[in-house]
Amino acid sequence: MTGSKRVLLAKPRGYCAGVDRAVQTVEEALKLYGAPIYVRKEIVHNKHVVSTLQAKGAIFVEENEEVPEGAIVVFSAHGVAPEVHEQAEARSLKAIDATCPLVTKVHQEARRFAAEDYDILLIGHEGHEEVVGTTGEAPAHIQLVDGPDSVDKVTVRDPSKVVWLSQTTLSVDETLETVARLKTKLPLLMSPPSDDICYATSNRQDAVKAMAPNCDLVLVVGSQNSSNSQRLREVAVDAGAKAGYLIDYASEIQDEWLADATTVGVTSGASVPDELVMEVLDFLAERGFGDVAEITTAQEKLVFSLPQELKRDMKANAAARAAEVAKTLS
Ligand code: SF4
Repeated sequence: MTGSKRVLLAKPRGYCAGVDRAVQTVEEALKLYGAPIYVRKEIVHNKHVVSTLQAKGAIFVEENEEVPEGAIVVFSAHGVAPEVHEQAEARSLKAIDATCPLVTKVHQEARRFAAEDYDILLIGHEGHEEVVGTTGEAPAHIQLVDGPDSVDKVTVRDPSKVVWLSQTTLSVDETLETVARLKTKLPLLMSPPSDDICYATSNRQDAVKAMAPNCDLVLVVGSQNSSNSQRLREVAVDAGAKAGYLIDYASEIQDEWLADATTVGVTSGASVPDELVMEVLDFLAERGFGDVAEITTAQEKLVFSLPQELKRDMKANAAARAAEVAKTLS
């Protein structure tokens, strides 16, 4: 039994381009302007990332009003409503917007369809920061559809002028089900011009679907408030894993979960640094699961550049330093 114990490791897993950019934004801001840097909401939904940035001098707040006037504030990867930008301006805050460009794309779609007077059905989870931000673009035109069971409550002004959009981090399969139900109710419902569920969310779910049927249990490294990590756990169980657990750290793994297991699947949410996954692999190796096979279903190469407002200041700072060095040498 011991000899046959193995780990299947999903790839892609962990950091996506939007999270990488958001975390780097805070790190570069700390280097450039010095601590403290205020961050509105968790920059990404991961305990470890947040506590690591806190230790470097980031201060996480819930709202702009907690930021001292004139200070620097970074907006999280999940995006903000236009009124949050307005509040920042009113307090003379220097705002750096780390919203993922793929969330910004959904905001742009919402603005465009609202300007054309469409009713917009936003599929997403009530209260999630991304949903709050997107809804804020056109509150009078957007109604939330929180899964297939919410479809019955939907009412629209003109059934021939309705479009659906979605949160970027949903379950692909559940969203298809919600859309199918919406289309039964509203046959003329339009689809978004391109997928709103992002590449990282779908790729991580595909990798889990490929390995889950062979797993006794799947460990998803990710925080409880991380939507895409929660979805990975659900997808694992739906795809055939006998059990799925969401954990922040290896230390949360309970020996009884492994007691009858032969194959353990491991993956991580889009906001999780790979060092946490490596700690899980070490933990499992110490318990006889040292044989690790990576299950690769896609290659990811996407990289997003840092926010313009930060890049501009980084460039100006580099130029000022170069001029100082030149002056010292002359
Ligand atoms: S999960 Fe998708 S939308 Fe969210 S930050 Fe990552 S790439 Fe962007």
